[in-house]
Amino acid sequence: MSTPQLIDPYQRIVSYLRISVTDRCDFRCYYCMSEDMTFLPKKELLTLEELDRMCSTFVDMGVTKLRITGGEPLVRKGIMTFFQSMSRHLKSGALKELTLTTNGSQLTRFAQPLYECGVRRINISIDTLNPKKFGEITRRGDFHKVMAGIDAADKAGLKIKINAVALKGTNDDELHDMVEWCGKRGFDLTWIEVMPMGDMGEADRLDQYWPLSDIRKQLNEHWTVEDIPLNTGGPATYVRVKETGGRVGFITPLTHNFCESCNRVRLTCTGQLFLCLGQEDAADLRAAMRDHEGNDALKAEINAAIARKPKGHDFDYSRQVIGGEMTRHMNHTGG
Ligand code: SAM
Ligand code: SF4
Repeated sequence: MSTPQLIDPYQRIVSYLRISVTDRCDFRCYYCMSEDMTFLPKKELLTLEELDRMCSTFVDMGVTKLRITGGEPLVRKGIMTFFQSMSRHLKSGALKELTLTTNGSQLTRFAQPLYECGVRRINISIDTLNPKKFGEITRRGDFHKVMAGIDAADKAGLKIKINAVALKGTNDDELHDMVEWCGKRGFDLTWIEVMPMGDMGEADRLDQYWPLSDIRKQLNEHWTVEDIPLNTGGPATYVRVKETGGRVGFITPLTHNFCESCNRVRLTCTGQLFLCLGQEDAADLRAAMRDHEGNDALKAEINAAIARKPKGHDFDYSRQVIGGEMTRHMNHTGG
């Protein structure tokens, strides 16, 4: 029997599911959440059993990579049970990769157990190497705890990629320090352009916008940089910094169109399937799952959703207005 595949109308194979397991977080990063966030009532969230059923159905249908995100995925109660349970799909060979994006605050506890569940690579978000600035960006994060978490992940054998959001006036003086630190530690580093998500004021967001073209230019002036072809099917492009040997990536959803190679869909913590980060259209998979005992209705809903995956998104900063702006918060959809 041939391996099942999810194929959209533009002949893109959808093999990558990003799933937000909670909208909650122990941080309040200013570009992601407001200080006084109201979180969803618990009953709205998929239970751990439902998360398992959902992900297993996607794996059944051809998804080979799962990224667990949030909110902060590691603050979800019982989340290690979910990772343990997902590891059966790695063992069977149906799933090629189980990974997560985390703020690192819980890694001293969870790095080793994650490795034991088959996780091999992990994205850790940290925007600054300055403890005071870290406190200001995250509003309530403990820099030293995150650093200890990064050490624990490294020690457990997890391959680490650092994600940093490029924030003008905040971390634009740390480009070279970050490149050097990641190079020394053997971590890849990815810069993410700030995206028009959530309900922050428009003026604020344009103020924060530090275009990655500027980062590339600064990198070129300071380091010996060579382009490397590395197509992840996602929005990132990569260069290698000769002096450190490390890779630096750029995620430019706003200035580049990466949609032709898009291989992913996103599931929110309430079971809404978003076909594109920049479009509002979503399928209510929670209803399809809760209202029916077997998985046939769920599978039909997934197939119907993939059949209407849009060609691309409409973000546009070019005219100094935020076009195609989304009202969802990143922590809800999962970054
Ligand atoms: N809490 C985890 C973390 O911070 O890594 C996972 C969820 S977080 C929403 C995923 C990623 O989205 C993080 O790297 C974060 O920095 C990024 N992010 C959040 N809000 C963003 C925004 N408005 N623009 C660009 N990236 C954003
Ligand atoms: Fe939390 Fe991650 Fe959003 Fe920061 S970026 S508030 S750590 S979900």
